[in-house]
Amino acid sequence: MPFIDADTAVRSEYDVIVVGSGAGGGQMAYTLTMNGARVLMLEAGRKYDPVAETPMFQTPEMAPLRGSVTTDKPFGFYDATVDGGWQVPGEPYVQASSDPANRFDWWRARMLGGRTNHWGRIALRNGPYDFEPRSRDGLGFDWPVSYADMAPYYDKVELLIGVFGSNEGLENTPDSPAGCLLPPPKPIVSDLLIQKHSAKLGIATIACHRAVLTQPLDWKNSPAKLHPGNRAAQAIIARDMQRRAACIWATPCGRGCLIRANYQSPTVHLPPALDTGRLDIVTDAMVVEVTVGRKGQATGVRFIDKTTRKDRRATARAVVLAASACESVRILLNSKSAQFPQGLANSSGKVGRYLMDTVGSDLAGQVPRLESLPPHNEEGATGGHMYIPWWLYRDQAAGKLDFARGYHVEFGGGRRMPEMDTATGLEWLTGGTYGVKFKEDARRYYGSMVYFAGRGEMIPNEQSFCEIDPDVRDQWGIPVLRFHWQWSEHETRQAAHMQKTFAAIIDAMGGRVQKPAESDGTKAIHTGGSIIHELGGTLMGSDPNTSVLNKWCQAWDVNNLFVADGAPFPSNADKNPTLTIMANAWRVGDHILDRMRRKEL
Ligand SMILES: Cc1cc2nc3c(=O)[nH]c(=O)nc-3n(C[C@H](O)[C@H](O)[C@H](O)COP(=O)(O)OP(=O)(O)OC[C@H]3O[C@@H](n4cnc5c(N)ncnc54)[C@H](O)[C@@H]3O)c2cc1C
Ligand code: SF4
Repeated sequence: MPFIDADTAVRSEYDVIVVGSGAGGGQMAYTLTMNGARVLMLEAGRKYDPVAETPMFQTPEMAPLRGSVTTDKPFGFYDATVDGGWQVPGEPYVQASSDPANRFDWWRARMLGGRTNHWGRIALRNGPYDFEPRSRDGLGFDWPVSYADMAPYYDKVELLIGVFGSNEGLENTPDSPAGCLLPPPKPIVSDLLIQKHSAKLGIATIACHRAVLTQPLDWKNSPAKLHPGNRAAQAIIARDMQRRAACIWATPCGRGCLIRANYQSPTVHLPPALDTGRLDIVTDAMVVEVTVGRKGQATGVRFIDKTTRKDRRATARAVVLAASACESVRILLNSKSAQFPQGLANSSGKVGRYLMDTVGSDLAGQVPRLESLPPHNEEGATGGHMYIPWWLYRDQAAGKLDFARGYHVEFGGGRRMPEMDTATGLEWLTGGTYGVKFKEDARRYYGSMVYFAGRGEMIPNEQSFCEIDPDVRDQWGIPVLRFHWQWSEHETRQAAHMQKTFAAIIDAMGGRVQKPAESDGTKAIHTGGSIIHELGGTLMGSDPNTSVLNKWCQAWDVNNLFVADGAPFPSNADKNPTLTIMANAWRVGDHILDRMRRKEL
C-alpha cells in the first residue's frame, strides 16, 4: 500500500492519475482500484494519518490559548485542518473587486484527505427537483443526469461511508432504500423543543443525515451490494468495515476521528484502495497542468515535488481532476498550449464560469426554559442530530415567495464541553455582571442558547466566476485565481426569509433573539464562499458549445480527461454537496472503467 516518492511515480505506469485526495479524489481512487485499475494519486498537501494524529481527547486547557480561534486556526487549535484555511501561506488568490459585497472567500485544506478531515459530515441527497431546476422555474441549468441515474450511487456511498438518518417521505427529500441508513441518534433537549415549536409553524423537523457510524457497519451484507460479483473487493471492504468502530458520543468530529467512526477520505476511502495494492500516493505533489500529446489527448500531468521544488511529469491513460472545484479550474486554465491557447477543455470559454456557493444566514436566541437545567452531557454525535428540510415547495410554486429555490435549516444548542468562549458575550442577557454574580449567570445561561443556520440554493450567474490573474503567481511560480462574485436578489431575499423564519421559531419557543432579525437580505447574507460549498466552474451539460464536460464529466475537448469534484455541478441545491460529489465520482469512475475495458481509453 505504498506512499511513494515523486521519482518512483514518474518511472511507473498507471491507468489513471487522480489529482486530489478529498471527497471526489478519494471516491474515484476507491472505485477505480477496487475494480482493477492502477492509480496514481497526486496530493498537494502533506501525508496525514488521522489515526495517529487526531487530538481526539485533548481538553481545552491542554492547548495554547485554551484552544481558541486564531487567524491560523479559524476553527480553533484542535481543528483537523493542519495545513490551510482561508489563507494558505505562499499561495494567495485575488479579489477582482474591493467591494466587500463582491468578495469570495476560499477555504483550502492542504493535507491528505483535504476538507473531508473536518467537514460537518452533513450528508444529504439531492432530490429529483434538484437535477432539473431550469425545467421547473426557467433559471440556471438542468443536470444532464437525473435523480434516477444518481440514486444507485447514493445508495452505495451511504452503505460504504456510513450515514445516519431517517426516511420521512417528504417532498424532494429522498428516502434511502432499506438498509442504507444507520439509525439516527436521539435528539437532545433543545432539538425536542425546537421540533415541538416549529411544528406549530407548520415546519417539520427530522433526523439529520450525517456521515457518522451510530452502529458498526453491516460488513456481512453490504460488501456484496457494493461490489456485486467482485469477490476480491468484497473481501477487502468487509475487512476494512470491521476495523471502523461506532461513535462513542464524546469528542468533536471537527478534529477528525481516530476510531474511524466518521467519514474522512484517509480513514474510509484510502485504506481499502491502498489494500488493493493498486494505489500509489505521492503527497506534497502540487499539480500545475495537464500535459497533452500531439493528437490533443491528455498524456498525464506536470507537478512540483514540494519536498525538492523540482518539476516532475507523470503519465497515464486517463487523468481525473478532483483538486476541489476552483483548484481543478485553475489547473485547466493553466494548461495552456499551442493547441489549447485558452486553457484545456475550454473551447466553450466556460472554464471557471458559474461558480456557486451556498446561501448562508444565521441567528442565535436564548430560551429561558433551557436555563439552569441539571448538569447532563449532550455531546452526542457532535454536530446536529436534527434539521429542517425545505418545506415551502407549494408556496413557491403558487408564487407566494419573492425568491426562487429553497433552503434547509441546521440548528444547534445543548450542553457541550465548555470552551474558552462559552461564557463570553452574555452581557445582552446579564446587563454586565462581575464576580460571584457573573459565575451564577454563566451557570444559569450555559446550554440555554439555540443557533439557527440557513443553507440555501444559489442560482449560477454570469457575474460569479474565477479566472487566472495575469500578474500574481504563488510560491511555486503557478499563476493564481482571481475571483468575481455577485449574489442575485434570489439569494439575498432568501437570506432575509431565513432571518424571519429563525426569529419566528425562537419566538414560538418563548425565547429572545440575540440580535433583531435582519430584513435587508444584502446584510443578512454571508460572504460568497464562506459556507465552503464552492461548486461549478467546469459545467457538465449536453452541448459542447455551452458546457465544459459531457454527462460523464468527461471534457468535450479531451477524450481522456475527467473532473470528479464539485466543479461539474450545474446547480447547487440547498443540500450540502459532498454526498453528491462522492455519488457522482463513483458514477464517473464506473464509466471510466467501462471505457477502459472496451479499450476506448
Ligand atoms: C468547516 C467545513 C464544514 C463543511 N461541512 C460540510 C458538510 O457538513 N456537508 C457537506 O456536504 N460539505 C461540507 N463541507 C464541504 C466539503 O468539505 C467539501 O464539499 C468536500 O470536501 C469537497 O471535496 P473535494 O474532493 O472536491 O475537495 P477537497 O476535500 O478540498 O479535496 C481536494 C484535495 O485536492 C488537493 N489539491 C488541491 N490543489 C491541488 C493541486 N494543484 N495538486 C494536487 N492536489 C491538489 C487539496 O490539497 C485537497 O486535499 C465543509 C467544509 C468545511 C471546510
Ligand atoms: S463524535 Fe463520534 S464520530 Fe465524531 S469524532 Fe467523536 S467518536 Fe468520532
